[in-house]
Amino acid sequence: MPVYKAPVEDVMFLLNDVFPIERHNNLPGFADATPDTVEAILAEGAKLCEEVFAPLNLSGDQEGCTRNPDGSVTTPKGFREAYEAYAAGGWMGLAAPEEFGGQGLPSVLNTIMQEFVSSSNLALGMYPGLTQGAIAALIEHGTEEQKRTYLPKMIEGTWTGTMNLTEPHCGTDLGLLKTKAVPNGDGSYAISGTKIFISAGEHDMAENIVHLVLARIDGAPAGTKGISLFVVPKFLVKEDGSLGERNGVSCGSLEHKMGIHGNATAVMNYDGARGWLVGEANRGLNAMFVMMNEARLAVGVQGLAQSEVAYQNAVAYAKDRLQGRSLTGAKFPDKPADPIIVHPDVRRTLLSIKAFNEAGRAFIVWTGLNNDIAHRSSDEAQRQVAEDYMGLMTPVAKGVLTDLGFDNAVKAQQMFGGHGYIEEWGMSQFVRDARIAMIYEGANGIQAMDLVGRKLGKDGGRAVMTFFNEVGAFCQENAGDESLKAYIAPLQQGLGHLQQATMWFMQNAMAKPDNAGAGATDYMHLFGLVVLGYMWARMAKAAQVKKAEGNGVAEKMDAKLLTGRFFMERMMPETATRLALITTGADTTMAMPVEAF
Ligand SMILES: Cc1cc2nc3c(=O)[nH]c(=O)nc-3n(C[C@H](O)[C@H](O)[C@H](O)COP(=O)(O)OP(=O)(O)OC[C@H]3O[C@@H](n4cnc5c(N)ncnc54)[C@H](O)[C@@H]3O)c2cc1C
Repeated sequence: MPVYKAPVEDVMFLLNDVFPIERHNNLPGFADATPDTVEAILAEGAKLCEEVFAPLNLSGDQEGCTRNPDGSVTTPKGFREAYEAYAAGGWMGLAAPEEFGGQGLPSVLNTIMQEFVSSSNLALGMYPGLTQGAIAALIEHGTEEQKRTYLPKMIEGTWTGTMNLTEPHCGTDLGLLKTKAVPNGDGSYAISGTKIFISAGEHDMAENIVHLVLARIDGAPAGTKGISLFVVPKFLVKEDGSLGERNGVSCGSLEHKMGIHGNATAVMNYDGARGWLVGEANRGLNAMFVMMNEARLAVGVQGLAQSEVAYQNAVAYAKDRLQGRSLTGAKFPDKPADPIIVHPDVRRTLLSIKAFNEAGRAFIVWTGLNNDIAHRSSDEAQRQVAEDYMGLMTPVAKGVLTDLGFDNAVKAQQMFGGHGYIEEWGMSQFVRDARIAMIYEGANGIQAMDLVGRKLGKDGGRAVMTFFNEVGAFCQENAGDESLKAYIAPLQQGLGHLQQATMWFMQNAMAKPDNAGAGATDYMHLFGLVVLGYMWARMAKAAQVKKAEGNGVAEKMDAKLLTGRFFMERMMPETATRLALITTGADTTMAMPVEAF
C-alpha cells in the first residue's frame, strides 16, 4: 500500500518564514489565521487526507465508477463516506464567505489543503474541487437569488458543482459550441445539447448536482461572442429551498479512461433542461473564466501533488531496496547489498523531484497569497499587482507544475524498476492519474499560448515588467550576501535569459506569430524555471536566517539549502537551452508540408 504524509512542516516554513502570513493581518479573514491556528487547521486536514482519503486511493482506482441502468452513478466503496467526512469538517467552505456559511479564512489555506487532498486521492478530491470552482463563479457572477439558492448548500457540501464546456466537436475552440438555450418566457431557458468529459457529472455523494453549462441562446452571434453561462440543477429547487422534480439532464455514459478512475467522467445529455442565466447574456465565457482560472490553479496543484506523493513512495523504496554496492565502497557492509539510495543516479533523480516539489509548493503558496490580496485587499495598488500576477502566473502554474508533475511521477516510478510497472505498488496509478492534469482545463500547449499570446502583452506588459523588477531587485539586494551567492547568481542568469526571450518575441513574433507559437512551450518552461528559482532564492534566504536563530532546526535548514543548491546547479541551467530553442524561431517547424508528416 502506498504511503502518504502531508508536508505540514514544509508548509509552515513557507507561511512563517518565507512569506509570513502574519504580514497580511489587515486582510479580511487573516486576523483569525494566526500561525498556531493555521498549523492546527492543516494538521486536521492532513489527518483526514492521510487516514481517510489515502487508504481509498488504490481501491478507488481498481473499482472505478459504475453507471447503473437507470443512469445513476455509483462511486467506489468508501468515497461517499470520505466525502461526507470532508463536508462535515467544513473543508468545502474553508475560505468561502461567512454570509453563505463559509469560514472566510484565507484562500491560501484552501490551496494548501488542495495539495494534501490531491496527493492522497486525486479522483476523490475532484468532487469537492470542482464544487469550489462553481462556488467561485456563482459568487462573482450569480444573481442574489442564485447565490441564496445554491451557495449555502454547496458550501456545506450537500450539493456539488460541475463545469460543462466540452462538446464532442469542441474542446479548445469553444467558439464552435452548439448547446442551445431557448427562452421559456418565465426567465428560465430550455437547455439542449450534449456535453462530454464532464468530471463529477453524476454520482451518489450529494443530494443535488449544480451544473454550470455553456450554451448559445437562440439567435446569438456565432463564435465565442455568442456564448452564455447557465446554472442547471439536477433537481429543480423549490421556493422554500427544498428539492423538487428531476430536471432534464442525465448521464448518458461514463468514459473508460487512463487514470482518475474514481472520478466519474460523464457524457451529459441536456434535453430541454431548465437553466437560468448566470451573468450577462453572450458574456458566458467571461463568467466561466472565474471557474476556469480557479480550476487551472487547482490543476497545477494536482501536478505538484502527484509529484509529492510519488516522491515520498520512491524515497521509502530507495531506502529499503538492496541492490549493488556504492561506488565508493559498501555503506551497509552487514547487509547483502546497499540500499539503492546510495547510488548517485538514484540520488540525482530523487533530488530533482524534491527540488521541484519544495519550490512548486512555495510557488502555490505565493500565488495563493496573491489570490487573497487580489480578492481581499482594500489597497488599490497592492490589489492591482496581485491581480496582474494571478493573470500572468496562472498558465505558468498550470502548465509547468503539471508537465513536471507527470515527469516526476514517471521518474519516481523508475526508482522501483520493474516493480513500478506492477499495479499493486501504486506507482503506475500516480503516473496514470498525473497525466490528465496536462490535458484538462486547457491542454498545456494552450496554456503556453495564453502566456505568450495574451498575458505577456496585457496592459503594455505591466505584469511581466513588475515580475522582472521584483526578481531583479531581490537579486540586487542580496548580491553582497556571500551565503546566498550560490542562489542569486544562477537566478540572475536565468532572469537574463527570460528577459532576452521576451525581447526576442517582441522583435520577432509581432509580424510573424508562428515564432510565438513555436516557442511558447519553451517560454512557459523558461518562465517556470525562473519562478521556481526565485522561490528557491527566497527560501534559501529564509533558511539562512532560521538556521542562524538556532532552535534545533540547523539540520533541516541545511537540507533545505542543499536542495536549493541542487536546483540551481542541476536544473536552473536549462534556461539557456530553452532560450536557444526559442530563438531558432518557427521556420523549420513550419516549413514541413502537411503531407510530409
Ligand atoms: C478526464 C477528463 C476530464 C475532463 N473534465 C472536464 C470537465 O469537467 N468539464 C469540461 O468542460 N471539460 C472537461 N474535460 C475536457 C478537457 O478540458 C478537454 O479535453 C481539453 O480542454 C482539450 O480539448 P479537446 O479534448 O477537445 O482537444 P482539442 O481541442 O481537439 O485539442 C487537441 C490538441 O490540439 C492542440 N490545439 C488545439 N488548438 C490549438 C491551437 N490553437 N494552438 C495550439 N495547439 C492547439 C491542443 O493543445 C491539444 O493538444 C475533461 C477531459 C478529460 C479527459
